[in-house]
Amino acid sequence: MSALPNSIQARDVRYLLHPVTNARRHEETGPIVIESGDGIYVTDSDGRQYIEAMAGLWSVGVGFGEKRLADAAHRQMLKLPFYHSFSSKSNEPAILLAEKLVEISHERLQRVFFTNSGSEANDTVVKMIWYLNNARGKPQKKTFLSRLGAYHGITIASGSLTGLPTNHRDFDLPAIPVKHLTCPHYWRQGREGESEADFVDRLAQELEDVIAEAGADTIAAFIGEPLMGAGGVMPPPEGYWVRVQEICRRHDILIVADEVINGFGRLGTMFASDYYGIDPDVMVVSKQITSSYQPLAAILFSDEIYQGIADNTAKIGTFGHGFTASAHPVACAVGLENLAIIEENGLVANAKASGEVLQRELARFRSHPLVGEVRGVGLIAAVELVADKATKARFDPVGKAGAPLFGFGHEHGVIVRAIGDQIAFCPPMIIRPDEVVEMVARFERALTDTAAHLA
Ligand code: PLP
Repeated sequence: MSALPNSIQARDVRYLLHPVTNARRHEETGPIVIESGDGIYVTDSDGRQYIEAMAGLWSVGVGFGEKRLADAAHRQMLKLPFYHSFSSKSNEPAILLAEKLVEISHERLQRVFFTNSGSEANDTVVKMIWYLNNARGKPQKKTFLSRLGAYHGITIASGSLTGLPTNHRDFDLPAIPVKHLTCPHYWRQGREGESEADFVDRLAQELEDVIAEAGADTIAAFIGEPLMGAGGVMPPPEGYWVRVQEICRRHDILIVADEVINGFGRLGTMFASDYYGIDPDVMVVSKQITSSYQPLAAILFSDEIYQGIADNTAKIGTFGHGFTASAHPVACAVGLENLAIIEENGLVANAKASGEVLQRELARFRSHPLVGEVRGVGLIAAVELVADKATKARFDPVGKAGAPLFGFGHEHGVIVRAIGDQIAFCPPMIIRPDEVVEMVARFERALTDTAAHLA
C-alpha cells in the first residue's frame, strides 16, 4: 500500500468498511483502487491493467466502457432522473423493460416487480409468497427449501436462503423458516461407488423425505440457482432439475429460479432455466440485466401468482411492499439498452463460442497436481485446488492456495475470484476466443507461482 498518509489508498483505509473483506488485513494491505475500465480490462490507480476474469462481480456482461449505456443513462437523467412507482405511478423505461423481460423469458412468466439488488429481490420473493399463501388461506405454508452452498444474497431473508456458513456466522442467520438440502455437486457430495444417476436419486429421495416429514402444506417454495455460482460454480448433475421440478409440482411447491448470475446468456442460452429444462414459477434476475452499470433486479412471476396477490390487494387495500427506487427510470433505461446490446451483438452466441474455448483451455489443468476438479458451462467456470488430488482433501486452512493465487493473479494481470480454494472465472460476455486464451495463460502463471509458494 502507498505509505503516503493522504494517498487514495490510505484514505480508503481510514474511512471505509468493505463488504466481504477481512478488515484488519485490509488495514495492512490497503485496497486496489480501480480507476477505469475498457472492454474486458480494468486499470488501477497505479496504472496497472488487468483482465477482469470475473466481469466485476459476475456482472459486467457487455464489458467496461460501453458508451451506449452511458448515453442511455445520460438521456434518461436529463428527461426524468427519478420517479417512484408507488400508488399507481409509472415511467416508460420500466414499462418497456418489463414488457421485454416477459417477451424473452418463459411463457409462464408474465409479470414483473423491480428492486435494486438481487438480495432485495429474493427478500421480495419470500414476502410475496408469504403474502400469497396467507391470502390463499394457507398461512402455515411458509418454509423455503434451499441448498447448502447456495448464494441468494445477504439481507435477512435472502441471507437465510443462502447456504454458506460465512454469510450466517455471527449474523444470527437463518432467521426465516428454511431447510437447506444437500448441495447438488456430484464431485464433492457423491459417495464412494455412487454413480451420478444414483446421486440424483438420493437427492430426489431427500427432497421427498423432507417434504413428507414437514408436510407439503408447510413448504412454500424451492429456490435454487440453476447453476450455483458464488458458492463455487457448481453445475448440477444430469437430470437433477427435472426431478426436483416434478416433485415440487406434485406437492404444490413453487419453483424459484435465481438467475442473478446465470441470466442473460452466461451459459450460452438466454437463461440457465432453458439450459436445464426448468419452467419456474418465479425467476429472479439482476447483474447482467444492466451489466451492473446501474443497480437493478427484477422478479418475473406467473400470472397465477399475480392474480392471487392482486385479489388480496383488493381485499386488504394494498400490496404494502416496495422500495423508493423500485422501477428506477435510469436503471430501467440502462437495462433496456443493455438487453438491446446483448441481442444486437449476439452476446449469447458469443458466450457459447468463447465459453467452449474457456472450458477447453481450463480442462488442460485437470492433470495439474494442485487441481481437484475443473467445472463449468459456457462462460462460467471454476478450478478447485486441493491439498491432496487422490483424496480430494481440502487445504487447511481453507484458502491456503486460493489466497496466494488471487494475489499472484494480480501480479500477472488477471483478476479471478478465490472462493476459498475454488478459483472462479466469469468474464464479460464480449470476450473473444483469443482473449480467453490470454486470460487462461495469465491464470496459468499465477498457478505456477502458487505451486512454488506452497512447495
Ligand atoms: N442471488 C445470486 C444467485 C447471486 O449470485 C447474488 C449475488 O451475487 C445475489 C442473489 C444477491 O445479489 P446482490 O448482491 O445484488 O444483492
